Amino acid sequence: MEDLFLLADELGPAKVIHVHEPSIGLKAVLVVDNVAKGPSIGGVRMAVDVSTEECMRLARAMTLKNAAAGLPHGGGKAVLYGDPKMPKPDKEQLIRALASSLRNVEEYIFAPDMGTDEECMAWVKDEIGRVVGLPREVGGIPLDEIGATGFGLSHVTDVALEYCDFDIDGARVVIQGFGAVGKHAASFLTKQGAVLVAAADSRGAIHDPTGLDVHALTELKAAGKSVAQYSGGEPLDRDSVIDVECDIWIPAARPDVINKENVDRLQTRLVVEGANIPVTLEAEEELQRRGILYVPDFIANAGGVICAAMEYQGASRAAAFDAIEEKLRQNTRTVLEQAQYNDIPPRKAAVDMALARVRKAMSFRRWSLFSSAPGFV
Ligand code: NAD
Repeated sequence: MEDLFLLADELGPAKVIHVHEPSIGLKAVLVVDNVAKGPSIGGVRMAVDVSTEECMRLARAMTLKNAAAGLPHGGGKAVLYGDPKMPKPDKEQLIRALASSLRNVEEYIFAPDMGTDEECMAWVKDEIGRVVGLPREVGGIPLDEIGATGFGLSHVTDVALEYCDFDIDGARVVIQGFGAVGKHAASFLTKQGAVLVAAADSRGAIHDPTGLDVHALTELKAAGKSVAQYSGGEPLDRDSVIDVECDIWIPAARPDVINKENVDRLQTRLVVEGANIPVTLEAEEELQRRGILYVPDFIANAGGVICAAMEYQGASRAAAFDAIEEKLRQNTRTVLEQAQYNDIPPRKAAVDMALARVRKAMSFRRWSLFSSAPGFV
């Protein structure tokens, strides 16, 4: 337990709460990392192999993401030990019991993450009310259905193109991962004039330099098929999308897909990080060295959490889209401007911006290390 304090720093975590109810097999951890900007938002991750350390790192990532997005929320995360595919009544009991036991932790707002979904959030609402990512029937804005993150990525791309020497009209796009994020990003970008030349899902990939039909691909996925079953184009091995020559490459699937072993294979001019940590830090450095612009994940893919925060305020879907557009365009511009002006990588510019926002919020708090008030050091 002592070792975990090594992960603590001046930002947090504010609280680490272990929840244990052996009679029903409930074992969970909540980390509230930093609440200077407001109650923390972060998902409940359910898996058999979660850990307190993972939870602390994920909570910190949410502190930075929420601060960068300019939300009145800090970062938190919960992990729930268990197989997310367990029988539904058992899962419901665990989620309800977790919500009940955290009833009084008002610094944490529940949200979905890997292994939990909007139905789980409806159970949380029924227990304690403090939750986002709800089904539409109980006041939710279904962010994956409406493509909140993909919509955000299209605006991030639009602004990033001001720092590139080509424009969206005719730009060749490759998308790795054709799920909630990838398919909507493809749809918004092609509506702006881009051409989708390759797409991959977990079962394969498809390539057509003259352009793929996004609607047809989306229908295939809705029918439970793979993009590789598209009629026309040339099927590729799943991971060969890394080699497809293009102007914009969008990872929207798994972590670490671009790493030091394969980053040299990318033949693109702009990488917009749709997934979480899809490019390792070493690979980002290599992109920078090769003059390939990238927009870091927690700046580019914040559309989902902005939508969730708007839902919490009771905003409409239209207002959520307006907020995503405004915040992501502004943040992308700030990060890329700072990177250019100070000759630093976009990742550093993004982290510096997020940390400055958290520290400023912390300076207003009573027990703040950053406060300049006499007596507070
Ligand atoms: P999803 O499950 O809806 O879609 C994932 C897609 O990736 C699927 O098409 C799957 O077949 C494909 N895939 C899986 N492994 C692959 C591989 N090795 N190569 C190619 N394709 C692969 O998930 P999602 O909600 O679209 O999320 C995608 C990523 O974006 C995740 O990293 C997620 O954490 C991140 N993210 C999602 C949101 C959101 O709003 N949903 C917001 C921020 C970040």
